[in-house]
Formats: sequence, structure tokens, C-alpha cells
Amino acid sequence: MADLPRFFSPSAAGTYRQCALRWKYRYVDKLPDPPGEAALVGTFVHRVLELVCEGPAAERTPDRARDLAARAWPETTANPEFRDLGLDEAAERQFRWKAWTAIEALWGLEDPAGVDVRATEQRVATEVGGVPFRGVIDRLDDTDDGLVVTDYKSGNPPRHDRRNAALDQVLLYAAAVEATSGERPVSARLIFLGGTQDIVQVPVDDEQLASATSGLATTWAALERDCSRDEFAPNAGPLCGWCPYVDRCETGSTEVRQRAAAGRLRDDAPARRLLDLVGT
Ligand code: SF4
Repeated sequence: MADLPRFFSPSAAGTYRQCALRWKYRYVDKLPDPPGEAALVGTFVHRVLELVCEGPAAERTPDRARDLAARAWPETTANPEFRDLGLDEAAERQFRWKAWTAIEALWGLEDPAGVDVRATEQRVATEVGGVPFRGVIDRLDDTDDGLVVTDYKSGNPPRHDRRNAALDQVLLYAAAVEATSGERPVSARLIFLGGTQDIVQVPVDDEQLASATSGLATTWAALERDCSRDEFAPNAGPLCGWCPYVDRCETGSTEVRQRAAAGRLRDDAPARRLLDLVGT
């Protein structure tokens, strides 16, 4: 029998929904899951926007963000996970360009100087829908209508049919805020800063909260069952190409080899390197 985790975060729930075996490798066996370049760009973007938004409102300008980005950059280059990427000078410039494009995109979507920021990087740990929940909220804003939960995404918005699933994360944060403070946020939103910039927002009402929390509870119940049986099924699919454990997973490696042979595996899929498929 595998131990249940003490807390469940949105990212752990997402990993489990994608593939129970991948969740087990990461959270039970505690095998390393190094962030790729895109995740590290996202970490840097979040850090700079945190610094921007915790400062005085009038100073939240792109010029100030540029200064803060320059000051925060050494934190990134000192990170062993960044060094492990092995970027050459041109690739490092590209990394910074991607990050800066995402940071600057915030001013195209809202005026940060006009936002009444209550908190940034707010940690929450509480029970949500009967599940021990933990997360970090990028930003909480006070508005005339009430409290707003915001999460930044450095990628593109999901397709319309996947937006509700993406919004579950911020709805769960809203539920956690209500559970810990008694104050229900009025809305929850995702700010997408990638190639296609957009704000995707949902009102926080009984119906939306019930949908998000019951989804979390269902996932948790499935996890409890898997842990009690110590059985974690693989769920092979396109994302096996980005799974750090593909070289120890028979189902996933078969899937990836078949996709590569059929020309359905992207050239930048890390599994190519892990399975020595470079050039196939
Ligand atoms: S390679 Fe695919 S099936 Fe195997 S653990 Fe990873 S995601 Fe799951």
C-alpha cells in the first residue's frame, strides 16, 4: 500500500489525472522531475511580476519591470536546474526574450498601476471539498466588487472546450480563500501571457465552486483507491513524449516509439533524448 500524500495541489491533481503512473513516480517514488525550459521561463516571469506587484502602484511600469528583471536574473542563472539546461549564449538570449515578451504582455491586458493588490504569492493550506488542499495564489486583488483571485500563465490559453478545466485551479484557490478567511472572492481568473494573450475569468458562485471541488474530491477518491491497492495504471498518449519517466515505463516508451516511427512525435519532445530516438 502506498502512502496517501498529506496535501493535494492543483498540479499534483493534474499529474494524476493525466497519468496515475506518472504521479506515482513523482510523488511516491520521488523521482526527479526537472522543469524544462518553458517551466523555468514561467518561474522567472512569475518572480518579476511578483516584484512588480508588491511594489507601490504608481511604480508598476514596464521600465520598472525591466529593472526588476535585471535584478532577478542572477537568481535564475544561479539555479542548478537552469544550468542543467546547458543553454549557449544565443539560447540564453532567446530564453530572456521569451520571458520579457511574457512580462511586458501584462501591460497589454491590464494596467497594473490601477490594481489594488492585496497579496502576492499567497500560500493556502486547508481542506477543500474534504480534500487536504495546498496551493500558492499568484495574486489577490481588491476591487469595487470584491476580492479577485489571479493566476498567471506564461503559455497560450487552452482551447474553448478545455477552459473550464483550466479554471478549476483558480476556483479551488477561491474555495481555499473562503475556507481560511470566510471571505468568498467574487471572481477567479487566469492571465495568459504567452503568444496569444488573454484573460479568462469566471464568477465565483455556488455552482462553479461545487463543480471544481467535486472534481477535486473525485480525483482524490481515485487516488485513495490506487494508493490502497498500490496500483497505478499508465495512461499512454501524446504527453508521454514529455514525461521524464518514459525510459522506465514500458507502456509509455512503446507509445513514444510508435509515434516517432509514424512521424507523430514532435522534434522537441524530451523523450527523443531519453529513449535515444534523436533523428528518427
Ligand atoms: S511515459 Fe506515459 S504512460 Fe508512462 S508514466 Fe509517463 S505519462 Fe504515464
